[in-house]
Amino acid sequence: MATQLGAGEDRSIALDWQDRRLPMADTPDLRAALAEANVQTLLMVYVHLTHDAAMLDVFQNYIHPPFAMPGTDIPVECQTDLREKLHHVLVTPGAARTDAPSQALMQRMMSVGVGEPVDDEFLPLLMDQIGFEQPVPRRERSGRAAPPADFKVLVIGAGLTGMAASIKLTEAGYDHVVIEKNPEVGGTWYENRYPGVGVDTPSHFYSYSFEITPEWTTYHPVGADMQQYLLHVADKYDVRRHVQFNSVVTALAYDDDTAMWDVTVRRADGQEEVLRVNAVINGHGPLNRWKWPDIPGLDRFHGRKLHTATWDPSLDLTGKRVAVIGTGASGAQLVPAIAPQVEQLTVFMRSRHWVLYNPEIADQVSPGMKFALRHIPHFREWFRFRVYWFAADGLFGNVLMDPDWPADSPSVSALNEGMRQYALAHLHAKFADRPDLIERLTPDFPIFSKRIILDNGWFDALKRDNVALDNGRIAEITETAIRMEDGTEHEVDVIVCATGFDVANMMGNLDIHGRGGRSLRDEWGYDDPRSYLGVTVPGYPNYFMTVGPNSAPNHAAGQNLISEVQVNYIIECLDWAVAAGHRAVEARQEPFEAWNEQIATRMRQMIWSHPKANSYYNNANKRNFMSWPYRLVDYWNAMRMPDKDHFDLH
Ligand code: NAP
Repeated sequence: MATQLGAGEDRSIALDWQDRRLPMADTPDLRAALAEANVQTLLMVYVHLTHDAAMLDVFQNYIHPPFAMPGTDIPVECQTDLREKLHHVLVTPGAARTDAPSQALMQRMMSVGVGEPVDDEFLPLLMDQIGFEQPVPRRERSGRAAPPADFKVLVIGAGLTGMAASIKLTEAGYDHVVIEKNPEVGGTWYENRYPGVGVDTPSHFYSYSFEITPEWTTYHPVGADMQQYLLHVADKYDVRRHVQFNSVVTALAYDDDTAMWDVTVRRADGQEEVLRVNAVINGHGPLNRWKWPDIPGLDRFHGRKLHTATWDPSLDLTGKRVAVIGTGASGAQLVPAIAPQVEQLTVFMRSRHWVLYNPEIADQVSPGMKFALRHIPHFREWFRFRVYWFAADGLFGNVLMDPDWPADSPSVSALNEGMRQYALAHLHAKFADRPDLIERLTPDFPIFSKRIILDNGWFDALKRDNVALDNGRIAEITETAIRMEDGTEHEVDVIVCATGFDVANMMGNLDIHGRGGRSLRDEWGYDDPRSYLGVTVPGYPNYFMTVGPNSAPNHAAGQNLISEVQVNYIIECLDWAVAAGHRAVEARQEPFEAWNEQIATRMRQMIWSHPKANSYYNNANKRNFMSWPYRLVDYWNAMRMPDKDHFDLH
């Protein structure tokens, strides 16, 4: 078992995941779990184990989605009755049914559980992603052609997506190698070790559907927990067996004659080696190529200067005057974590960000809830369903502009306005005694047009005596200070750049030459990437991207889901090619153009095209190259299988 942690903290989630069996022992722990656990999830478990639809009739009047007004609390006597009945079913031999509920009952349970209709289109996604129906591993599927033994796949990166690719390639019987620049798996969660680093996506959803864990300690994982989860997965699925660590892919060149890729890999000692493979899956991670801000004089600074993505854990900030430039997700997590330690902290906010408060953000998962997740059958799957529903596509109405919504409104739809009001209420409540900060922190663009920030102590930190916010423009950095355009100078010892990543340069430093020697850099330029379905590009057979152009879930949580969807699609493409006696698939030009046209047309309806929208989702020409402008379920349903009319086989 590997024990090295990426994010530099002790392991805080135990890995003794346990089986769930019935009947359960009637213990105080079980009773505490039934008393504490989320009641909507207990309802799902009860109906799952009894098929007692009458219980759904009782609860359906009381369960509403968040933000639904007016809400009616679930009466205590209903809850007590449910908990007692479920207790009986769990501890009494033979009381639970062992057959699965029908699909119709599952769908009704889902709808009642979240207080709104769950339509048919969601069912395949939900059954898979909440963990009820794991597909049979490809290698065991009858009638499937096994990949030829000499067919080799290369995966770039052993982060969340690269690891999923490796696990699923193994399951499908593909010989493959993973090239990873770091000495350990984890990608983003290996690298990002800045104080306060965490995940904005809820813990019980942000994991692989094939490896759901009940062990999260908080409802949003801290970076170390996320990395620990990935280390656990790497151990369990023996991922490292395939990984060549401390190695960087620098170039890819397609050989038309053999339909193979020559992949140049630079090793830790600087030596280069060329690996010949049939297919390449690029799990690069769009938020991986960090960059220094373009601020005059940054090199001149005599003090310590660092970027959140390359944090030095040995750095002691005690008693230091520290500048944090950037107030995105990284800056907003870092500031509350270091503020109590430093002497003086000056936060530089170039433009404003919308901030949402989630009361669960820092909550520990209670012992009773943990017990339920660990031991009560079906509880963890049904809880995952609930979290998915409210953190993912339920938020889509925020990013689709309602054509009937007033053009001069600060929001774009009713849901978006509700979110704006919710965010404003939090801002005003937090800074009731600091109207100056309310004014300086209120954005003038619609909420969700730029990545939102979750408040995990961010606002409280800004109110501290040793923290100052400067939202002027930085003119330059001198040997000892940050000088603003208005002439103010902030003398500092340390500058932390929480200034983000070079997202639009999706190729990074990779040199990619496809069929006939064509160059992807020539076609994409620096920041204008285009793809077919976010995964392939015509002219580059068997070169597959993940989180490629216009496939990022920017309306909600769900990168884990997109990763699994794309890996599945890529392996379906490979399976199709090899079953047909070919070696490579290549997207055709017409569907590529049609898809990009469709995205461009759709994008005009999206919040990211709002005149006041400005974010790293857009390139220098204001084209959104990053976001998937539909729901996750649309991507899921569109990506089950390649459309064979849209590809050539080689
Ligand atoms: P970011 O969202 O790109 O934010 C960068 C910040 O730096 C912005 O406030 C930006 O200002 C500012 N900035 C950039 N260049 C500047 C300059 N030259 N002068 C002054 N300010 C400058 O980067 P991030 O915070 O690292 O987050 C990137 C993404 O990583 C997130 O959106 C998220 O997807 C992911 N992430 C997730 C988590 C999580 O899940 N908890 C945590 C960290 C990061 P403007 O707003 O004016 O551009």
